[in-house]
Amino acid sequence: MPELPEVETIRRGLEPLLAGRRITTFETREPRLRWPVPTELAQQLAGARVQTLSRRAKYLLLETDRAGILLHLGMSGSLRHCTPGTPLRRHDHLILHLDNGYQIRLHDPRRFGCCLPLPSDDTLHPLLADLGPEPLAPEFDADYLFQRSRGRRSAVKAFIMDQAIVVGVGNIYATEALFLAGIRPGRAAGRVTRAEYDRLAVHIRTVLATAIEQGGTTLRDFLREDGTHGYFRQSLRVYGRAGEPCHVCNSVLRTRRIGQRASSYCPTCQK
Ligand code: ZN
Repeated sequence: MPELPEVETIRRGLEPLLAGRRITTFETREPRLRWPVPTELAQQLAGARVQTLSRRAKYLLLETDRAGILLHLGMSGSLRHCTPGTPLRRHDHLILHLDNGYQIRLHDPRRFGCCLPLPSDDTLHPLLADLGPEPLAPEFDADYLFQRSRGRRSAVKAFIMDQAIVVGVGNIYATEALFLAGIRPGRAAGRVTRAEYDRLAVHIRTVLATAIEQGGTTLRDFLREDGTHGYFRQSLRVYGRAGEPCHVCNSVLRTRRIGQRASSYCPTCQK
C-alpha cells in the first residue's frame, strides 16, 4: 500500500511533468473505482491547464484552471508517465492525455483508489475535512500530542495512527518511531508523559522525512515505463523483526496485536 512518503515522492516526481501542461483528453477506461469516477470530469478537464499537484495526507490534489481532482491510490494504485505507444495494461483505468503527447496512467488492480472532483470554491472536500495535521507541519509537535492525548485510554500506537490526530503515520512508521522514542506501543496514550511526547514527535517527523528523502532515489523506478515503484528501503529497527535481537540491547524483540495490527517492540528499550 502506498504510504505518505511514497505519495509525496510520486507528487514530487509528477509535478514538474504536469505543471503548465494542457490536458487534451481525460479518458476513463474503468469508472468503477472505490467510488464511480464521475462522467462529467471528462468534459470539465478537456483543455484544462494544470496548475499544481499538491498532497494532503495520502490524497493527491490536481488543480487546473477549470476543475480539480482528488486522487487516492488505495491499496494497489500507481501512476506512470508514459508515451502514447506504451502498450496498455490491464487495470490502467484512467488516462490523462497531455498536450506534449505524454500520458499519465492510473493503474489500480484492486480498485480501492479514487478520482473525484474537487469543490470549485474554497470549501474542503469532505474526505479531507476531518484530517489531523500533516506530521511535517509546524502545528504537529509534542504540545499538540500531549494535549490531544489527555484522558485517552487507547494504545499510544493506535492514537498516532489515527488520521484525525495526525495523518500518514502508517504501521511501519508508528512502530519505528515508538522504538526510537523508547515507548511501548500498547501504553495508554493518556499516560505517556510530556517528555516522552517530545521524543515521539521528533521521531515521527524524522522517520517520515527520511523515507521521503530516500524516496528521491526511487523516482527513477516510478518513472520507469513498467510503472513499478520500489518500496522504501529504510533500514527497519523493529518492524517485522519480532523474535530477532534488538540492535541496541540484544533483547529478543516481541510482538503484540494492537488494533488488528502486529506491533513489534523491544521489552528493554521501550518502557
Ligand atoms: Zn532493545
